[in-house]
Amino acid sequence: MNLFDICQDKLNRIKAEDRYRVFADLEKQADKYPYYKHYRDGRVEQVLVWCSNDYLAMGGSDLLVNAVHEAVDQTGVGAGGTRNISGTSHYHVELEAELADWHRKEAALLFTSGYIANEASLSTLLSASPNMDVFSDQKNHASMIQGIRKGTARRHIFRHNDLEHLRELLEAADPESHKMVAFESVYSMDGDIGKIEEICDLAHEFNAITYLDEVHAVGMYGPRGAGIAERDGVLDKVDLIEGTLGKAVGVHGGYLAGPAHVLDYIRSVAPGFIFTTSLPPITAAAAAASIRHLKVSGQERAMQQRQAARLKQAFADAGLPVMPSESHIVPLLVGDPAKARDFSNRLLYDHNIYVTAINYPTVDKGTERLRFTPTPRHTDAMIEDLVDILVPMFNEAGIRKRA
Ligand code: PMP
Repeated sequence: MNLFDICQDKLNRIKAEDRYRVFADLEKQADKYPYYKHYRDGRVEQVLVWCSNDYLAMGGSDLLVNAVHEAVDQTGVGAGGTRNISGTSHYHVELEAELADWHRKEAALLFTSGYIANEASLSTLLSASPNMDVFSDQKNHASMIQGIRKGTARRHIFRHNDLEHLRELLEAADPESHKMVAFESVYSMDGDIGKIEEICDLAHEFNAITYLDEVHAVGMYGPRGAGIAERDGVLDKVDLIEGTLGKAVGVHGGYLAGPAHVLDYIRSVAPGFIFTTSLPPITAAAAAASIRHLKVSGQERAMQQRQAARLKQAFADAGLPVMPSESHIVPLLVGDPAKARDFSNRLLYDHNIYVTAINYPTVDKGTERLRFTPTPRHTDAMIEDLVDILVPMFNEAGIRKRA
């Protein structure tokens, strides 16, 4: 078997396990969001999307669209270089200042995505000392795991959000080593929230630095929308905050905020930062406009929270197996990959509703689910319609809320 035959073989196995991903051919419509166009078999239909991470509908807002129009007239489209070779525009500089202020940190550093921000930052920091231990929450995102694996630090995985286990691991490590604890605030698939203050206090007891991924929380929580650490009043306890511009901010890109000299070091050595064309200036312009707005406007967050609470309540009232999320993420447990895929297909093809099936390896086997992310533009009527469609589907499949 040659290499390409092996690829085909592995692909066949993914299909047999119901893990093969088919991307719906969608087009976002700024003025009609969350309705998208769906291109299929030569036809175009309107679909109602329930799984976008443009959580606050900022992506199509007049504010951001106008910011892009203005910037594109100034700068054209691409950045034209890496950050070091002509790719640092004034828009990048302003955005980094905006991000540092948002998280009350000395500085911030932009990356081409949240994924790269985690991978490049963690792999760099975790190779900086020859004697280092990293303690990583079991549910951390793939981008953190990749960064941690690339680093040279000894790896310790603590049970999800389990302070006792983290303490045991910290106590067992070399007291002289450099240490980092890496974890998230809002966990994207279950919607539960990291115990930020307790984890930071414990980490600092052992002189460990704290690295927090707030990708699903920035824009969404706190009086200025800076995330859960801001909401909980513990920004100063988190040494490094990683975030994305691609979800609630509504644009694209990632960043790390923290002490200026640490970011200066990452900027100077991380291949994932150095050797890639920087974000387009129009992207930086739109992200800065979005953050300036979200710092002072709580309206979008409040409306999103209201609709998320309504959706959870409507699912629970209808006896649907809604998982116990503490955040704006609303997962319905299906527990079987083929059924999750079948539900998603039937919603799309029979009802023009789009919500992706979340299967292994994104979540553990046996916990396959549909993950709903309502926005301020999802109405009460849309929620009612959704429940009316889901109830017979789940009933037919014999899936009900667990006692
Ligand atoms: N961290 C977490 C927890 C995520 O869920 C994601 C992406 N879904 C990322 C990082 C990567 O962010 P981005 O999409 O900006 O690459």
